[in-house]
Amino acid sequence: MASRNPSERDCQLSDARPQVLLIDDSRSVVGLLKNRIEIASPARVLTASTLAGARELLEEAPNVAVAVAGLCLADAPNGEVVDFLHTQKVPVVVLTGNMDEQVRETILAKRVIDYVVKRQGDEVDYVVELVQRLCGNHELKVLVVDDGRTSRLMIRRLLEAHNYQVLEAEDGVQALEVLEEHPDVTMVLSDYQMPRMDGGELITRIRRRWTRNDMAIIGLSAQDDPTLSARLLKAGASDYLTKPFIEEEFYCRVHQNADLVRSIRAMRDASRRDYLTGLYNRRYLHDTGAKLYANARRGNLHLVAAMLDLDHFKHINDTYGHQAGDLALQHVAKLLRQSVRASDMIARYGGEEFCVLLANGDAGQPALVLERVRQVVADTPLDYDGQRIEITLSIGATGELGEGFEAMLDAADHLLYEAKAGGRNRVVLGADTAAG
Ligand code: GH3
Ligand code: MG
Ligand code: MG
Repeated sequence: MASRNPSERDCQLSDARPQVLLIDDSRSVVGLLKNRIEIASPARVLTASTLAGARELLEEAPNVAVAVAGLCLADAPNGEVVDFLHTQKVPVVVLTGNMDEQVRETILAKRVIDYVVKRQGDEVDYVVELVQRLCGNHELKVLVVDDGRTSRLMIRRLLEAHNYQVLEAEDGVQALEVLEEHPDVTMVLSDYQMPRMDGGELITRIRRRWTRNDMAIIGLSAQDDPTLSARLLKAGASDYLTKPFIEEEFYCRVHQNADLVRSIRAMRDASRRDYLTGLYNRRYLHDTGAKLYANARRGNLHLVAAMLDLDHFKHINDTYGHQAGDLALQHVAKLLRQSVRASDMIARYGGEEFCVLLANGDAGQPALVLERVRQVVADTPLDYDGQRIEITLSIGATGELGEGFEAMLDAADHLLYEAKAGGRNRVVLGADTAAG
């Protein structure tokens, strides 16, 4: 971890973007879809017009989240591309020019996510929405709770076909254990009748900790009891499915609930983050910082507060323009994210001032981390239309808890001022912090 190569990191980051494979012999269809998907999502879109082309692309880019494929290609006239994509475990959305009985049967015989008839006008929006969802589903963890192994496996298979991450539990007790270990689960599908703890009790317990906004719960049951759905919903289930269900209904309910959780999450995230840099905003820093501080006071963690300010930033704006200044802020934000641990917190405090809270750092380590931050910023100029813009920052940091969280930030700010007065591009630590 001592010195990370930022360009190496960049490659990893760009590889983490979901990839979509478009295969069709109509260049206009491919062009239109590519354009619309790239506008609507962060996905990288790869295109091919033949099965051979698709094969080649998949060899180079094995992690494709979804493929949108024409059934009739020059080198694969009878939907062979779908079979090929199956062997590669890539979910497929089929594009077809006509939909006579024979084509319908061919498609339905193959397991596809969905099929879309070209040239109906509204198919583009539909495909874009499907692709967006399939690209995002891998971020959603779904817990399947059912004492029946076969039923669990069937549900797992359905969910995995749409890229969801799946966890399993055999009953309510085990489900709570799994949630303890994976608190980031966003949806629970739970059977009702199970040994040890049934679905109703499980839902009640989950709702003590997770609201409907944090976690969707879909109750499942084979029981032919008309009051059961009402009881599950009252216990806190978001939705309900009676077994046996048809796949289309299953997917509709799962997707609707996933979309809801996703949009609530996005709204919440937007209120916590700074628009320009994507870092946490000042308000969220104050909320979370106060909690970290209280924890540090109780002796549960080691907290260091650092204030960082770009040096002579006004000069960058004046020389290269405001847009370059904005890019410089984004550039520094990215370097900061790459230089500290995920458990540390970074916020944009003001215009060109950032705050980093190092939590749980070992004694002596904050000094190393902050020095590394200073150095990586100084060593990584921004490339602005071929011009190298050198950026440095000054840092003040303290690990002394003092009177309260706000006072800690004030103390860090004072040390930052010392770093500026001392010549900039340097780290000044409080006396106790340097010693650990
Ligand atoms: P010092 O080394 O003393 O910190 O000098 P400085 O020039 O960085 O500090 P000063 O406070 O004089 O100027 C800060 C500048 O940051 C002025 C302001 O226009 C610019 N700034 C603040 N927020 C933004 C922003 O969102 N975008 C851009 N482009 N500039 C910003
Ligand atoms: Mg059961
Ligand atoms: Mg400044």
